[in-house]
Amino acid sequence: MEDYPRTLSEFEQRFATEGACRAYLAQLRWPGGYRCLRCGADRSWMTQEGLMKCGQCGYKASVTAGTIFHSSHLPLRTWFRAMWWVTNQKHGISALGLQRLLALGSYETAWSCLHKLRRAMVRPGRDRLTGEVEVDETYVGGHEPGGGRRHVGNKALVAVAAQVDREGIGRIRLRRIPRASSQSLLAFVQEAIEPGSTVLTDGWEGYDGLKGHGYKHKARVISGSGKTASVLLPRVHRVASLLKRWLLGTHQGGVSRDHLDYYLDEFTFRFNRRTSRHRGKLFYRLVEQAAAVGPTPYAQLVSDSDHDP
Ligand SMILES: [Zn+2]
Repeated sequence: MEDYPRTLSEFEQRFATEGACRAYLAQLRWPGGYRCLRCGADRSWMTQEGLMKCGQCGYKASVTAGTIFHSSHLPLRTWFRAMWWVTNQKHGISALGLQRLLALGSYETAWSCLHKLRRAMVRPGRDRLTGEVEVDETYVGGHEPGGGRRHVGNKALVAVAAQVDREGIGRIRLRRIPRASSQSLLAFVQEAIEPGSTVLTDGWEGYDGLKGHGYKHKARVISGSGKTASVLLPRVHRVASLLKRWLLGTHQGGVSRDHLDYYLDEFTFRFNRRTSRHRGKLFYRLVEQAAAVGPTPYAQLVSDSDHDP
């Protein structure tokens, strides 16, 4: 049973206290009920300080330890409000927008809050795309003249996979890749797509090795066909243009290459749930995943460097 608020007023009533937020978090973190982390007993209660106390051995465990909320100076209520706004705004929210909305003390606090939430948007061990999947690469960021279609330069190169769903788009996967080499592209395809699936690409030789790795490969050749790439691979091109519009719109293009991966995760999270009838369901999913993802200190968020070789 997925239990989540449907409206803002339901949300505000339900999560008015730290205790209510903690209880919800505990429920999503231990869906089968909490068992003592020391002795395994299933009898426990929540203390005044919000700890789970074992009824058998007395061991106290924190509901937030091991989650992205661990040792945060922000109240859980603030985190919950941030998760509500992030999932309820169709296009998400910028750090400045969140700072204003929640009256946070600093831009840095809002920024790191959003980044921690983005880390929770990708479920570890999620399943790969299947069936027919279009794959292509696109540039994001800095403009640089010349160099040809697959020259990287200052821009970031992003691999896009979009599942064919009749005339429409199913689920997507995005990943920043260092270059359009067969090695990079194969690694992306293997991470994103189940072997045995049909991969649709353009005629770029970087995709030639796919057949040798268990994929069916159909190359749609552009040159001489009189057709543009957007006609031959319409889904990946649609996704790439929505991604760029989102980065320029919600985030006003202010996304550094070092942090692009997190934004790609957020875009993917939103896109793959775009048909959800209830926004509250996205909130539920985000809390659930935030409870399962380990904490990242601010220092690590800002020192994540570009690992391009
Ligand atoms: Zn115990």
